[in-house]
Amino acid sequence: MSHAPIAYIYEADFHCPVCARKRFGRAVDDPDTEDSEGNPLGALSPWDETSPEGEYCGDCGEEIAEPYGDDEDDVPDDSYTHDPEGDDVPVLAPPLAVTQSDGGRAR
Ligand SMILES: [Zn+2]
Repeated sequence: MSHAPIAYIYEADFHCPVCARKRFGRAVDDPDTEDSEGNPLGALSPWDETSPEGEYCGDCGEEIAEPYGDDEDDVPDDSYTHDPEGDDVPVLAPPLAVTQSDGGRAR
């Protein structure tokens, strides 16, 4: 499920999976499928890098990847998931320094 492409690349443009299936049917996942220029279809995986302007379907205009500005280091989380196995390492919160108050005796 996490391996499903978020978009297909053909005719030098991105296309959402819905439009890609409309055009190629199940052949979208066939490595032998070519577009009208004779190029094999590309697939954009969730962890692939996208442009800061975002990516949009060349057919229906559906947003494929959110734009992200240069002014923020706010890269979509998806670009970090390089491990398709999803071997998530739990992020352990550092233990809070337990402030041992001395029984609330204010001095
Ligand atoms: Zn589309």
